[in-house]
Amino acid sequence: MDYPKTRKEAKEQGATHYFTGEPCSRGHVALRKIKGICVECMKEDWQIDNEKRKQKPKSEAAKEAGRRYYERNKEMVKARAAARPKEETTKHKQKYKNSNPELYKALVSVRRRKHRKATPPWITAEQKLAIRKLYLQAQELTKLTGERYVVDHIVPLISFDICGLHVPWNLRVITQEENLKKSNKIDCTLFKKGV
Ligand SMILES: [Zn+2]
Repeated sequence: MDYPKTRKEAKEQGATHYFTGEPCSRGHVALRKIKGICVECMKEDWQIDNEKRKQKPKSEAAKEAGRRYYERNKEMVKARAAARPKEETTKHKQKYKNSNPELYKALVSVRRRKHRKATPPWITAEQKLAIRKLYLQAQELTKLTGERYVVDHIVPLISFDICGLHVPWNLRVITQEENLKKSNKIDCTLFKKGV
């Protein structure tokens, strides 16, 4: 596409951008907006602003606004998330995990405690090994397929009427996707009512 060469020409033609072919003060040879700003400089400034914003902890008002936005646009937010390429989601999650190490440490220890509490004292060393193998299998499948596999408790460790055990015959390797579908089916309101 041919751009006007000067700001004056651009104005005359009613164009939004022009291209002088000369480097800007920061050395970019790029399009300039009609106001005279180089588009590469604009991008740089945006990125700097964005980074600065991300460093700052979110205010309560901003968090509340985020929640309200989600409530109003739930379907769209979910549809967008579903349409996002898996690698992107994985990368994002990894980044979140790396920037919240304390949270993840806490989650792991909660899970360990849950497993320990649900492991009967009469379990044999062989059975413990069988459990370990299931976790290794899930890891292996994740590596092989690129899809995340997890170890699922067939009867959940904590459910309304029964308490599942952390024993080999209550464990199976499934994809995380299947696992999430399953947990969605559990009605958490029942827990809150203490049923
Ligand atoms: Zn520039």
